Amino acid sequence: MRNNEIGILAQKPFLQERKLSLHWLVAISSLPLFGIVAAFGIAPETQTSQIPVHTVIENLQLPSAATPSNIAGNFWHEERIQRGDTMSALLDRLDVNDGDIAGFLQSAKGSKSLRQLIPGRIVHAQTDSEGNLLALQYISSSESMLKVEKQADGFKASDEAVPLETRLMMKSAGIKSSLFGATDAANIPDNIATQIADIFSSDIDFHRGLQKGDKFTIVYESFYNKGELVKTGRVLAAEFTNNGKNYRAVYFQDREGRGGYYTPEGKNLRKAFLRSPLEFSRITSGFTNARFHPVLKKWRAHKGVDYGAPTGTRVKAVADGAIAFVGKQGGYGNLLILQHQGQYSSAYGHLSAFARGLHKGSKVNQGDIIAYVGMTGLATGPHLHYEFRVAGVQRNPSSIAMPTAFPIAAQYKADFNKMAENLAMRLNLLKNTNLASLD
Ligand SMILES: [Zn+2]
Repeated sequence: MRNNEIGILAQKPFLQERKLSLHWLVAISSLPLFGIVAAFGIAPETQTSQIPVHTVIENLQLPSAATPSNIAGNFWHEERIQRGDTMSALLDRLDVNDGDIAGFLQSAKGSKSLRQLIPGRIVHAQTDSEGNLLALQYISSSESMLKVEKQADGFKASDEAVPLETRLMMKSAGIKSSLFGATDAANIPDNIATQIADIFSSDIDFHRGLQKGDKFTIVYESFYNKGELVKTGRVLAAEFTNNGKNYRAVYFQDREGRGGYYTPEGKNLRKAFLRSPLEFSRITSGFTNARFHPVLKKWRAHKGVDYGAPTGTRVKAVADGAIAFVGKQGGYGNLLILQHQGQYSSAYGHLSAFARGLHKGSKVNQGDIIAYVGMTGLATGPHLHYEFRVAGVQRNPSSIAMPTAFPIAAQYKADFNKMAENLAMRLNLLKNTNLASLD
């Protein structure tokens, strides 16, 4: 059983991908905010291919004003740091022919960040026509940039804030095996994938509830410097189709700076209970189909949900509440029970450990890490046994209507509607473009 799941985890989600050339019908001029439109779609099965999935990824890039320019014979060069690179090899490739700079970079206080030469990072250098270095720029982290400039009395190094250009990215992907399989194929960063799972965590169980054929469209912020992606920001709008049902979310921040996700109609997406108590990550997402069965027959009256996950995976409180029980209890092994509002409680079994400092009566908030997955008690492999109880009786959490959090306040409704309409239009655009583009 355990071995099987490791097999699932290790499997490549996409066996073969074929890039198709597409004729996009995107009117970029009507969408000044968008620098890049990328889409990933699933095409109908064709006779020539065994594999029914085609990957379509295309970038439409607007002319970037940030590209190093060629001014008065002084050239900007760009190089990516290679594995095992040395400073002199790097300067060589940058066409820098200047003995002084290598020594300066090796010793100058301010140039420390460049001495590590992290593979993949990009260095820009400006030289005159003889190869004398005039300036050098290196983004050492998502916040700071090392800048070296030639001055009358030699080189000067300084750390500056990275000038960032914000781009909104629109991407669309179909789910074949897991959320990460889809985001990898569409070249969507992990932090965006976990945001998607978080945004819809009250409606969709991303560990057990995803179906083949589910799909999503997202709009998120990316921050660029000279055409290089420095970091990704927040998901601003998302649509997720799970099991044929559409969920939409838009991000809205009020004038007091409180932000949250709402439906386009202004309903809060945050509900009193999360759908899954397991922290969503690349590791746990591979266990989508994990099913554990109890070892003893008398344990067979199984009234909970089992989440297969490696020992140590973090377990979250599904709702605000107080700890009603923490300790060992028979077949449950290490067990934690939370008492929530009204008659609701939740139980978490087979744990390897509890979060530090928790005891009976401790208050917890929704999403707090309360424990870690294990296989204590009667468990054939590491997994979380989760029970949702109403008046002490186990119930199927997905069959119960949950109370929701506050909707958009009346005084922000006009602001919100304007923004939601705009973002919804962008989601529609990509959705329609994607479908229209596949022959
Ligand atoms: Zn169980």
